[in-house]
Amino acid sequence: MIPAATARVTLIRGDGIGPEVADAVLAILEASAAPLEFEEVVVGRVAEETGGDPLPPEVLDSIRKNRVALKGPVGTPIGKGFPSVNVALRKKLDLYASLRPVRNVPAVPSRFDGVDLVVVRENTEDLYSGLEHTVVPGVVESLKIITEVASTRIARFAFEYARREGRRRVTAVHKANIMKLSDGLFLDCFRKVAAEYPDIVADDRIVDATCMRLVMNPEIFDVLLLENLYGDIVSDLAAGLVGGLGLVPGANLGKDLAIFEAVHGTAPDIAGTGKANPTALLMSSVLMLRHLGQAVLATAIESALFATLAAGIRTPDLGGTATTTGFAKAVAERLGG
Ligand code: NAD
Repeated sequence: MIPAATARVTLIRGDGIGPEVADAVLAILEASAAPLEFEEVVVGRVAEETGGDPLPPEVLDSIRKNRVALKGPVGTPIGKGFPSVNVALRKKLDLYASLRPVRNVPAVPSRFDGVDLVVVRENTEDLYSGLEHTVVPGVVESLKIITEVASTRIARFAFEYARREGRRRVTAVHKANIMKLSDGLFLDCFRKVAAEYPDIVADDRIVDATCMRLVMNPEIFDVLLLENLYGDIVSDLAAGLVGGLGLVPGANLGKDLAIFEAVHGTAPDIAGTGKANPTALLMSSVLMLRHLGQAVLATAIESALFATLAAGIRTPDLGGTATTTGFAKAVAERLGG
């Protein structure tokens, strides 16, 4: 935990709705008088067009120096073009743990009540290693990499998190019945680490059965630990349980560095229309403030956000008519800004 003082934070606005939700969040942070100073950097398509590199070295330097970044979503070309900047950032900075707390937001109607779970996703390997090649024309191979080191490290992260946050249970989610070696190793590492945490219940479930159970009884889950691909899919599924991608925050954490970003992407279908919900990035900034030792401020922003939603001021994804900026203004007003 970094002590409370003015913190320099690397800012990546991102693409699509990224700049819209980032501006909304910056306005709210400013109204809260958060002791933050932002250093803006550019990645993705714009960085590639201007400097030939979608992830310029100065971006990595800035995050290594400031140790904390707030990031909007960045688009990845599908099936061609540059590789995912999001995946590259996590790998190059060794942000091995993705943390996504999913809980009901007060006053936002959703299909389920009592959802309070945390998705812990391994961020650096699995099928996201980017190791694909054509064996012969018409046949491609994509390598799923699972290592003992990364699996042990993420399992320890999940149990440490559970202990620190007063959570009762960590559930490893896998397909070790089919992928006996790769998911089998992930599960073995989980079980070894679990033995060091007798105060936390440890169990495991098959990923497909977990998805079914999540959409029937999400309230039974606590901390879920998953490999990279399953974690990606289950994060979005879990977001849907509490009202959608516009609400769920995230953090990518390494030993010393952290990037805070929403679960959602660039939402090209609504970019530029003023319909984007800034809540997910705002909640990510709340996680960031807690990480920076600014817990009181974090709670104040969260309360202003919940009061705004409770007053019926909502963006269209939640059935409302507020614009991104109108919503941000309403939250800022509730902070006295
Ligand atoms: P998406 O999350 O952008 O959108 C999925 C759906 O959710 C869309 O209908 C969208 O309108 C809606 N949605 C998402 N965020 C919302 C918000 N804040 N408010 C209201 N509605 C919201 O997923 P996608 O369409 O699969 O991906 C689009 C692009 O984003 C792709 O290029 C993908 O690679 C990228 N992406 C980036 C990140 C990241 O930067 N971490 C994460 C996921 C996807």
